[in-house]
Amino acid sequence: MKISVTMLSSYLYCSRKLFLEKVLKLREPLKDSLVLGTVRHEIYDKINSGEEALVSLITDKDHLKELYKKSYLQKTREVIIKNKANITKVKLDLSGVFQKTWPYMEREAVERAENIRKFIEKNNLYGKELWEKLTPKIISELRVSSDSLDLRGIVDRIEVYEEEYVPIEMKTGKAPREGTWEGHRIQTAAYALLLEEKFDTKIKEAFVQYLDINEKRHITINPFMKEEIIELVKKVQELLVKTYLPAYCGSEAKCTKCGLRDKCYDEETLQKLMKEEQKTSKQNI
Ligand code: SF4
Repeated sequence: MKISVTMLSSYLYCSRKLFLEKVLKLREPLKDSLVLGTVRHEIYDKINSGEEALVSLITDKDHLKELYKKSYLQKTREVIIKNKANITKVKLDLSGVFQKTWPYMEREAVERAENIRKFIEKNNLYGKELWEKLTPKIISELRVSSDSLDLRGIVDRIEVYEEEYVPIEMKTGKAPREGTWEGHRIQTAAYALLLEEKFDTKIKEAFVQYLDINEKRHITINPFMKEEIIELVKKVQELLVKTYLPAYCGSEAKCTKCGLRDKCYDEETLQKLMKEEQKTSKQNI
């Protein structure tokens, strides 16, 4: 049974929660952090997929920051408007979401414009030629899947250098004091393995980008990670066919902010759902 990469980090966070969501089909109510995360992802996707057209328009190295900011501002607005229904559902307003989102995009616009300026200064290329030779190029939201790893997923962002692919996982929310959260490390390493297979290459490093503090945290991809991930995939697969409820996670902090808390502690209802689930599974055999 092929599983998604995000299930690996969910499993590490709380295996009971993963079970409630995937086996008993319980859903967390929509949260504002989730909506903001989706909006940011969609904007990044939009700016990355429009990058070729934007770079091909460049005919001089002045005013690049203005060009980038204008383009990203328009895309930010479009994505926020597209997500209006969900934004309203979690009681946020469009201008509030813009204020929370635009600083990230503006920073991204300035950084990319600066990179392009440096590349032009070094190579003196413009328009289509500039795009063709430009490194790194950025691929976003790339679907990857592997039969041998029993895994599938969507990689947030990949920086493509002449002979190197560098996956970057973008995360909102609190970052650890140093390094990455364990789930983020595993998720990013799993994407690196999937990309190695897809592009038949070796990936040596990856990053988790913590957007709220604008920091990229480095991960070295080593051969032991493959075994670690294969082991974890097995554990998740076993969890999904369990006939009893997994234990509570034991972390008060996690349970306090968990959207499934009420359902999770309602043993009676959960046992009923378990019975129904087992009945349905038997009928489907
Ligand atoms: S309430 Fe706690 S144990 Fe239950 S699913 Fe949420 S995080 Fe896991």
